Amino acid sequence: MSVKGMADILPEESWKWEKIRSLFLENARRFGYKLIETPIVEHADLFIRGIGDGTDIVDKQMYLFNDKKGKHLALRPEGTASAVRSFVEHKYNSELLHKWCYFGPMYRYERPQKGRMRQFHQAGIEAFGVDDPALDAEQIILARELLVGSFGIESVKILLNSIGCPACRPGWQVALVDYFRRYDRELCDNCRRRLDINPLRILDCKVQRCSEIAKDAPAGRNYLCGSCSAHHNKLKQYLSDMNIVFEDDPMLVRGLDYYTKTVFEITTDKLGSQSALIAGGRYNDLVKSLGGKDSPATGWAMGIERIFLLSDIKNASEKTVYFIALDEPSKIVLFKLFASAAKRRNCRFDYKGGSLKSQLRRANGAGAQICAIMGENERIADTLLIKDMKNKTQKLIKIDEFGETL
Ligand SMILES: [Zn+2]
Ligand SMILES: [Zn+2]
Repeated sequence: MSVKGMADILPEESWKWEKIRSLFLENARRFGYKLIETPIVEHADLFIRGIGDGTDIVDKQMYLFNDKKGKHLALRPEGTASAVRSFVEHKYNSELLHKWCYFGPMYRYERPQKGRMRQFHQAGIEAFGVDDPALDAEQIILARELLVGSFGIESVKILLNSIGCPACRPGWQVALVDYFRRYDRELCDNCRRRLDINPLRILDCKVQRCSEIAKDAPAGRNYLCGSCSAHHNKLKQYLSDMNIVFEDDPMLVRGLDYYTKTVFEITTDKLGSQSALIAGGRYNDLVKSLGGKDSPATGWAMGIERIFLLSDIKNASEKTVYFIALDEPSKIVLFKLFASAAKRRNCRFDYKGGSLKSQLRRANGAGAQICAIMGENERIADTLLIKDMKNKTQKLIKIDEFGETL
């Protein structure tokens, strides 16, 4: 048995996986995002500092272990902290714009459910060095284009908010604490703890009573400083200019501590409840807090398992030719034809042999469009029987015409 919450990607469906990856990389590349591959294992401290104490990920969901030298390590629960670690470690110039993308497995110990696994996969983009709302707009446009244009997922909803910066968020936090204190006894245990550590997180609580209370909480919008508010308004303008429909949602927050200014989610109702397919935002202080120079940054991540469930991409495979030999001497001749044809096109050889009927059945099972059949009669005459599996037609051809026939 595989480990709970960790699934195989089986050969029958891996084509779809590959296709999602290549569509993601293609779209990202067009916008200038280059692939970075970071290790799955990092120092645990990176995520504790990057994502923050008091978050579910750090408090409850990390896969932690010590290596043989006693180093405290973690399987990565998300991609951004690793990208920032790499950005800092390799001393990229924070005065310039750098655009990166990644695709790979992430690990969180939580209750497995449909579309949510303990080993799950995320694709993401990150851009470092520019604090411009046009860049936030670009990333949202790319996200939307991927979901709708490439993966064919209609009816997505873009939710947008600004959660402020270290200059203006404290004012909002104080107001939130004041507000939620009044409902102290009604909040869930988690939220009562959050009240002291991070009151923003209460806005994100899924417990019904908590979210009812949160509906009337003071909106962060009223506390934004001039810079945050201008950033948010310009972002909305850029999106409107592109006719991109979004919902400005003053209660939207994200489950990670590092966000500043823009946060957004693209959700769908196709998985039952409203669930996020892509989520992200700006994290202008993370690079500095992980030891780098002050460098604004922004990015998003996409959950691949959900895309896998929802996307309508097709497997446009090329024609398969299936080689059937009816006796041993024919097998020797036919195998040579197979081995040279397989260098150029999709070919299968029937190694199990047996009757024509059973080999044709396997050809069908393999999805073959054409069968190249050789028995004693064909071999003696230097010919092959070519059978079209769809039209049920067949014709005899000379072996040296075989290349042209395909
Ligand atoms: Zn601000
Ligand atoms: Zn709660």
